[in-house]
Amino acid sequence: MTGAISVLGSTGSIGTQTLQVADNLNIPVCALAANRSAELLEIQARKYAPELVAVYDRDAARDLAVRLRDTEIEVVQGEEGLLRAASLESAETVVTAVVGTVGLRPTLEAVRTKKRIALANKETLVCAGELVMSEAADRGAEIIPVDSEHSAIFQCLEDKGGAGVKKIILTASGGPFRGKTHAELQSVTPEMALKHPNWNMGAKVTIDSATMMNKGLEFIEAMHLFGLEPGRIQVLVHPQSIVHSAVMYRDNSVIAQMGVPDMRIPIQYALTYPERGPAPAPELSLAEIGKLTFEEPDLEAFKCLGLAMEVAGMGGNAGAVMNAANEEAVRLFLDGKISFNGIFELVSAAVEKIKCIDKASLEDILASDLAAREFVKSNY
Ligand code: MG
Repeated sequence: MTGAISVLGSTGSIGTQTLQVADNLNIPVCALAANRSAELLEIQARKYAPELVAVYDRDAARDLAVRLRDTEIEVVQGEEGLLRAASLESAETVVTAVVGTVGLRPTLEAVRTKKRIALANKETLVCAGELVMSEAADRGAEIIPVDSEHSAIFQCLEDKGGAGVKKIILTASGGPFRGKTHAELQSVTPEMALKHPNWNMGAKVTIDSATMMNKGLEFIEAMHLFGLEPGRIQVLVHPQSIVHSAVMYRDNSVIAQMGVPDMRIPIQYALTYPERGPAPAPELSLAEIGKLTFEEPDLEAFKCLGLAMEVAGMGGNAGAVMNAANEEAVRLFLDGKISFNGIFELVSAAVEKIKCIDKASLEDILASDLAAREFVKSNY
């Protein structure tokens, strides 16, 4: 039986699917948190009757407080509010499904209060992987990945404690522009990039998937999560998104995890682990799919992926710089201010220009994050 969950980012794609899983399994929801969306938060709050709802945006928080004034539910705001939702006494598991660096402090807070963390905010490990993983080890907090690839690797490693692992194989759909050259990508518009063939996601993640920066972020996430050096992580393009990732052992035996591309499977597994709950998604029919294909990623066309693999080896604050620069560059692309390939140009310039700090503290990381954003905003 799974205890109460706190869902950070409850109005987004992962958040709403987490609530569907909670519905099916009768898991109580003790806290909800989101950036704004007072209207949807009101609907969710009335349905799940949590103790607390945190809203990052102060105006939206005031709006929600008015909407919920006939209830007992406490509405809190800002980063303080997110931290409260992340450390609420009654929460057994904190689902970190907010997008971006804003997830870093709440995740650390959940680690410090020894929650199980169902980690869906990859930016946290990309920015501060060393810090978060060592804190989690010290406190004995469990971090269970929600990202489909990392959940797959986690499942393939299960029972074996990581012994005898040669490498992990991180699969990638290749996004909507697989097969295109760098030159052909120059004319991609936001509308074109927002159509993903297999997964239904928010705008930021969808653009990251189109540039393959998403795979780059996942590469760094995997490195920290599973304690592997970059040379032991291989990215493999697999357009059908059925093999969610795999582990190759010392004897060259490969264990892969498969399923239909539906986030409710990895979300549910993070909540019920080590148990498996009833099916939250349709059955996989390999006969119907017929063919699974694999190919090397094209690092010439998808330069963001190559950049992230380099950044993985740099350590320190490099991940934080790359991630923050990418967030800002994606925003500029969505606003029509830069080209699709301009995302890579800006992010790689930020990584080159901003000073490397080897042993980065939380303050160093937050400062590097800000510096990278400033750099992108003043150099496009
Ligand atoms: Mg993923």
